[in-house]
Amino acid sequence: MSLRSTGKNRNKEVCTIHRGIAASPGVAIGKAFLLNREAVEVKEEKISENEVQREILRLKKALDETKKELSKIKEKVAKRIDPDHAKIFDPQIMILEDDFINDAVIERIKQSRNNAEFVYKKVIDSTIQILSSSQDEYLKERILDINTVTSRLIYNLLGIKHLTLESIDSPVILIARTLSPGDVVHMKKESVLGFATDAGGGTSHVALLAKSMEIPAVVGLKNIFDQVQNDQSIILDGTRGEVLICPDEETLKEFEKRRKYILKKTAELSELKLLPAETLDKRKIELSANIELPQDTDSALEYGAEGIGLFRTEYLYLAQSDLPTEEEQYQAYQGVADKVYPKSVILRTFDLGGDKFDAHTGTLYEMNPFLGWRAIRACLDLPEIFKIQLRAMLKASSKENIKIMFPMISETEELKKAKALLEEVKEELRKKKTPFDENIEVGIMVEIPSAALSADSLAKECDFFSIGTNDLIQYTLAVDRGNERIAHLYQGFHPAVLKLVKQTIDAGHRNGVWVGLCGEMAGDPLATVLLVGMGVDELSTSAMAIPEVKKIIRSITFEEAQELAQQILNLSTVDEIKKHLIADYAKRFGKDNKSKLE
Ligand code: PEP
Ligand code: MG
Repeated sequence: MSLRSTGKNRNKEVCTIHRGIAASPGVAIGKAFLLNREAVEVKEEKISENEVQREILRLKKALDETKKELSKIKEKVAKRIDPDHAKIFDPQIMILEDDFINDAVIERIKQSRNNAEFVYKKVIDSTIQILSSSQDEYLKERILDINTVTSRLIYNLLGIKHLTLESIDSPVILIARTLSPGDVVHMKKESVLGFATDAGGGTSHVALLAKSMEIPAVVGLKNIFDQVQNDQSIILDGTRGEVLICPDEETLKEFEKRRKYILKKTAELSELKLLPAETLDKRKIELSANIELPQDTDSALEYGAEGIGLFRTEYLYLAQSDLPTEEEQYQAYQGVADKVYPKSVILRTFDLGGDKFDAHTGTLYEMNPFLGWRAIRACLDLPEIFKIQLRAMLKASSKENIKIMFPMISETEELKKAKALLEEVKEELRKKKTPFDENIEVGIMVEIPSAALSADSLAKECDFFSIGTNDLIQYTLAVDRGNERIAHLYQGFHPAVLKLVKQTIDAGHRNGVWVGLCGEMAGDPLATVLLVGMGVDELSTSAMAIPEVKKIIRSITFEEAQELAQQILNLSTVDEIKKHLIADYAKRFGKDNKSKLE
């Protein structure tokens, strides 16, 4: 996908404050860099008669170039996902080869003596008009393809340089309408001091990745992109969820102080690093970190993680341009397991789909990607790819500190199918006498309401549960976790969500299965006492959140946490629950923190 910075002029600078969703904590101060992925303006230009042939050649060259680009992407997708899915690029290539369109464009260049991009756009616009009035759904769907391919062709005709996020190399604050996890994974922390987007929710994968990479971020600002000019001074406060445009000297000084204060506070909390996460009456909670890439492990340990509770392995795929080979995966898993040894790492099998496809290939077209071909569903459909991953995981497990976890399990049969494939791989390894952990623990993410409601049956088929509240909230409340327009409805403290969490913990324990929680709720200081009181055995969260959660766990007794959980589970609205939790937090930790939480 191509990116470019806008060429807007600097207007008179007026300081404004914009409030969005706090996605990744920390303060960044720097110059704005706008990413513009919108359609470019195509201007009408006249050409002379002897320029007509040159213009037609220019068109043919751009058509050729665009076809080559698309064929390359198609090849990549065929290799990385599967040849069937690569077929989504066929209609786009066919549009470029369509003689009806191309002849019409050439004829019109000759007749009207206009520039190629202007004529192509005109011809396409009238084609779209005809298709939009068609009753045929298939033809209507082609409009999306036509638009995608037309903007790619026009970029090539105009010779607009394709810029990737990797190539940003001077420190900036990135402002975009929207970003994908594939974009964020390519950011360099030294160059992208922070980022702000119009779109997105607090538990979107873009936000989670920013936290792991320790890049301050504010999302869901709705219209920040249109309010900022390139090179304007920006303060981005990812802790409060605010962006200040063109702050005055005094505000800049104030925020520089705040930036240092946040860093100091973080350093103070890290003194807890070596202490266990246990309550005053010695109930031990396993406090682990979520990571996206192997290199996040050092920082997780630095923040005092007692292991890795969730390795989102799909980022190995998102970070590079090909599906990682078995050897690359083995090295990655083994590397993390060695670093945390004797503590353990939970390797979650690929959870691709939803909002996680990379920026190079674009998304597979689905009406409801979060309800679509995602995670275990895709893996069970692609057993060869899945088995490579399982083999790499098993091979890395011989020191017995690896656990395997399946995402998006919705029912017991699905889990049995995944386990059967794991068994096949184990058998192959046994035959080859390749060592692996014969007693490797296998668990599932409980992140779909149907799984929470079937927890008794699922527990009989696995060794542990890890509750994925990020998805559990969106699926329980029917609220897209990445949509800023409905972010106010995305409520982790909804009584229905809390009931499902409690039910899962109880069902796990009834069946001798330990229960963790690895959604962002695990790192929310307001939720800590409640989750401990509900009986959770493990909490796994963004590394940065660990010290504060540990501090809270170490200052309460299990008994008082249980009492609070009981009170909360008897309340019936989000408002009542939040008020109760905020009041309880303020009572324990003082007014300062209360105002921060509100
Ligand atoms: C979750 O859904 O809570 C979770 C931890 O998984 P992810 O955020 O990767 O979907
Ligand atoms: Mg999830």
